[in-house]
Amino acid sequence: MKLTPLSNDDLTVIQTQLIDKQELLLKRKHELVIEDPFSNPDRLNDNAAIDTEAAEQFGHDTISAIGSEVDVMLAEIKKALDSITRGDYGVCLRCMKAIEPKRLLINPTAELCSTCQHTQQLSDAT
Ligand SMILES: [Zn+2]
Repeated sequence: MKLTPLSNDDLTVIQTQLIDKQELLLKRKHELVIEDPFSNPDRLNDNAAIDTEAAEQFGHDTISAIGSEVDVMLAEIKKALDSITRGDYGVCLRCMKAIEPKRLLINPTAELCSTCQHTQQLSDAT
């Protein structure tokens, strides 16, 4: 049963977008590991001054924070790709109605239709 509200052409476009973004993010994640001062093997050997230590701690924390954001985005992309495979991509998780195709083309990892997204934002604000 085909639940997705999208045409096959739109689905192909979105799937390609998602895969491209996934590759970019995986690359970014790899770069983050290299940039992390804590992954530098020389770090323990140098008698770093306190401010260097602090800078390294800051760098590590920043990179960890970006890394978790990247992980969240990767998880969203994976969910979207999985649902494309399952055939229920583009179905709102809340009301189970079709998410507007235009919305999905702009934001391929959207899991809610604009009505439910709006309702959720309102309830989040309280
Ligand atoms: Zn909905």
